[in-house]
Amino acid sequence: MLHNYHTHTKRCNHAQGEDREYVENAVKNGLKTLGFSDHAPYLFPNTDYQSSFRMKTDLLFEYAESVRSLAKEYEKDIRILCGFELEYYPDFHAEEMAFLKQVSPDYLIMGQHVLNSELTKWISPRSNEDWTLCMYVTEVLAGLATGDFLYLAHPDLSGYDYSEEVMQQEYRRLCEGAKRMHIPLELNFLGVRSNRHYPDRRFFKIAAEVGNDIVLGVDAHSPDIVFDPASEQTARQWADELGFHIVEKLL
Ligand SMILES: [Zn+2]
Ligand SMILES: [Zn+2]
Repeated sequence: MLHNYHTHTKRCNHAQGEDREYVENAVKNGLKTLGFSDHAPYLFPNTDYQSSFRMKTDLLFEYAESVRSLAKEYEKDIRILCGFELEYYPDFHAEEMAFLKQVSPDYLIMGQHVLNSELTKWISPRSNEDWTLCMYVTEVLAGLATGDFLYLAHPDLSGYDYSEEVMQQEYRRLCEGAKRMHIPLELNFLGVRSNRHYPDRRFFKIAAEVGNDIVLGVDAHSPDIVFDPASEQTARQWADELGFHIVEKLL
């Protein structure tokens, strides 16, 4: 795997290591693209609320400057991109985009960890109630339709124990919508290496039938795992068995 667009930094409060350590391990293992996509600082207007799982808003410029300066320093060895992972909260999206544009990010990936919004009413998509899966897919498709996202991270982040009929219908609705919009879906290595409920083979079977492009995302929260051949082997085996198409380079 030569291109990874899903990498965090310690600024999000649940990752470790220095930015430079991520870069050095990526260079050591021959990566050609290392995309930083830390959990974006979120500008909730008219409130002091700061969420616990993303960088604080006053770190926006420091993050971008750190990534850009490493990009320059290591430009002979590797291409480093400055991106963000971001939820789609419709009520706040326009202002959030204007906020992030101050640092001209190279790309955004969508990771819908919260439904509705964490400020108004925090609804977890990770429950196993059918209605949350419907809501998750509806919000994800609306977010992708903005055209602001390069790809959808862990598309199967939602729960795993839905009624069979709803699961089939909603996963297919998500896959068909993403395909229509030409937006790749990620097979997430963090889920593979920590045995989470995602990636879900049932989801990727449907993605194979629909013909989605699948991108591999390391989702590194520590420098040692920025290269993860064991998860990559699992992902490529799934691709062979289920017949989905992996797209290696996006930018
Ligand atoms: Zn994270
Ligand atoms: Zn992530």
